[in-house]
Amino acid sequence: MSDSKFSRRQIVAAAGAVPLAAGATRALAQQAKGTPLAGDFALPDPPGERMRWAVVGLGNFAVGEVIPGIRQSRHARMTAFVSGSPAKQADLGARYGVERFYNYADFDRIADDPEIDCVYIVLPVGLHAEYTIRALRAGKHVLCEKPMASTSAECEAMIAAATAANRQLGVAYRIHFEPTNLRAKQLIEAGELGDLRFISCDHGFNANPDWPPHVWRLQKDLAGGGSMYDIGIYGLNTSLMMIGDDGPAEVSATYSYPKDDPRFREVEGGIDFRLRTRKGLTISGSSSYCWSPYISSQRYMGSQASLFMKPATTYDENHIVLEGNGPQRTIGAGDPWGQFAAQIDAFSLAARANRAHRTPGEMGLRDIRIIEAMYRSADSGGATLAL
Ligand code: NDP
Repeated sequence: MSDSKFSRRQIVAAAGAVPLAAGATRALAQQAKGTPLAGDFALPDPPGERMRWAVVGLGNFAVGEVIPGIRQSRHARMTAFVSGSPAKQADLGARYGVERFYNYADFDRIADDPEIDCVYIVLPVGLHAEYTIRALRAGKHVLCEKPMASTSAECEAMIAAATAANRQLGVAYRIHFEPTNLRAKQLIEAGELGDLRFISCDHGFNANPDWPPHVWRLQKDLAGGGSMYDIGIYGLNTSLMMIGDDGPAEVSATYSYPKDDPRFREVEGGIDFRLRTRKGLTISGSSSYCWSPYISSQRYMGSQASLFMKPATTYDENHIVLEGNGPQRTIGAGDPWGQFAAQIDAFSLAARANRAHRTPGEMGLRDIRIIEAMYRSADSGGATLAL
């Protein structure tokens, strides 16, 4: 991540909110350049008509990205925080004008709070299913962070709870709202690469066993799985996003980390995998908690041109290098920071209409089933398994 992300975060936090007019101006500028828009850039709703959001878990990602994203959105506003820390609630409440606070014990009281329409679950993975189901039973729509849950059985229970409550359940796959990835998808679908022949995706970083947000990532009960659950899932989900109506048919995988590394007693530190789609395309990927620096790379090889993205799935520097079909081109299709607000806006509009979000619970379930198959394959020495 670049320094620019932190300066932008600081600016957003200090200012409290980015003026809505700035987003609209940027959207118009993007339209003028002919680039695709990541979200719904219609006029903002008046504050009284925006969907009202509670954020559950005030950790690193919630404070750094989710909360500023909600403040930048056009169809949402924050009304409540759920946290085990009254001090964080007081601090963030003062900064963002939020006055309704709940903790994990009294969470179910949100059922009686008409000032909450949507709940954003930003907790460790092992808690996603419990709090998602409790929120759905309280009658709220839920956007849950990735990966959806610890197991496919939990994902199925979450989907069943959404159906029973007649509420929407989305998984926060932000790349589906990131302008440069949407541009890449548009280029692939327009045939710029010719026939797509091969995809590779590599994501990883070096897990720090002493840093609180990484501590729970190394504990199976809170993390669900290892690097593939946390970081490899970006490559998996982004690759599948790019191939449209094609889908995975079989998978094989092997573990790839030092077995004597004390960080990885409970979860895997790295995995290499190979997916074959129904149409015969290969997606080759890797994820790791043992790499430096932070790596986020996607490559799409076609019969006429190839598209490289590094970084591919970050918050502010994603870009495309397109080779073949003429001179090499570098494409950055818009401000990646906008993906957070665009995702919130899209879910707000879906919830208001009570229709499925672009990245629904079923997509989260699909990905967890694939990762579970990767683990089964790796456990059996790399066998190819049908999906
Ligand atoms: P953090 O550890 O920074 O935050 C998690 C928060 O959950 C804590 O601060 C705490 O908030 C709350 N919490 C409740 N119970 C526990 C517990 N037993 N142990 C630890 N925390 C607990 O993690 P992240 O912010 O990095 O990750 C949170 C979620 O966001 C995860 O699902 C992760 O996968 C996802 N994420 C998504 C990203 C993306 O790009 N989409 C990027 C990074 C993370 P409090 O003190 O308020 O109770």
